[in-house]
Amino acid sequence: MFNRRRWESIAFGIALNLTFVVLVVLGTIRPESAGRPVPAPPVPQGSSGPAPWMHKLAPGERPPQFVLFSFDGVGSHEHWQQLLPLAQRVNAHFSGFLSGIYLLDDKRRTEYTGPGHRPGRAAIAFGGSEEDVRTLVQDLNAAVSQQHEIGTHYNGHFCQGSEPSVGRWNTAHWNAELDQFFGFVDRATALGLKLDPATIKGGRTPCLEGKFDQLWPALTARGMTYDSSQVSDGLAWPTLQSGVWEFAMPSVRVPGAKYKKTIMMDYNFWYMLNRAKDDPSRAGEFTEIVLGTYQGAYHAALNGNRAPMVVGNHFNSWSGGAFMAATEQFMGEVCPRPETVCATYTEVIDWMKLQDPAVLDEYRARPHAQIAAP
Ligand SMILES: [Zn+2]
Repeated sequence: MFNRRRWESIAFGIALNLTFVVLVVLGTIRPESAGRPVPAPPVPQGSSGPAPWMHKLAPGERPPQFVLFSFDGVGSHEHWQQLLPLAQRVNAHFSGFLSGIYLLDDKRRTEYTGPGHRPGRAAIAFGGSEEDVRTLVQDLNAAVSQQHEIGTHYNGHFCQGSEPSVGRWNTAHWNAELDQFFGFVDRATALGLKLDPATIKGGRTPCLEGKFDQLWPALTARGMTYDSSQVSDGLAWPTLQSGVWEFAMPSVRVPGAKYKKTIMMDYNFWYMLNRAKDDPSRAGEFTEIVLGTYQGAYHAALNGNRAPMVVGNHFNSWSGGAFMAATEQFMGEVCPRPETVCATYTEVIDWMKLQDPAVLDEYRARPHAQIAAP
């Protein structure tokens, strides 16, 4: 059923997830919303016509080097405040995968029932105070107005250890979870949320777990088009699986850590570097190592198969904010580069639809982009 490499990824992921669950329970996944005043949403920019890169490739023309920045949870006001001005400055669009229960203030927690769980239970915090939820609504509105994309990180964040975890769910469970997610979005319109549910087209599963053959029918029944939870060895082109575009998270070698391989995501880096122990004194060192990995992966794709590069992160302040700092530095330096487009999932899907399938197949058949060991 699984090839060997895939199985190793899963086994490794499970080891990570046990620690991940502890973190989530301790509440570090969602840095507190400070409840500070929210600036007015910026005026939408560049809304006149498609971007210049949104066209069918001419013969011999190479695909743009897409970089897909994607953030899980997206409940932290502090991080929205850092990210939105940065993205605007470098003309980046990114994707935020919202944990739906962040739209439920703590007093309304029993309005959520995770599949197989009791009402009001979740492996992450709920939305906090009413004011915290209103702040999140304003942050999401600001993101939408800047043409960023909102997807789903589902609701209760039940990873292995929080049973029944998403890895055991069947299609009915996923349907129940998604029904509730869209219900929370719908009810938040009363709080001023301006997020059209029809624009929520994909997501990332908690801890990258899940039986995907069970998830796909729940996504396609809602007209959803993509997922970004599987793992590829190196940077690979998206593949269409039962009507869902899979944008895999690449596993790459880390030049600053003896070229060991890891999934290119904040928590996985942290676990590899020091078993995910909080050590702010090493923040600068960790940032350099992660940034060097991003740069290596980007150049491998740019000079190789041109696979869209998925950069996955949580809104977190782990180990002195080392990982978020690396992602922000990378966004700042890579998005303005020539032939490079920092785009959302739906933008890349729209671009792929314009292409001759044979041309994309040719790129897809090329070796996955890898950071070479010396
Ligand atoms: Zn998560």
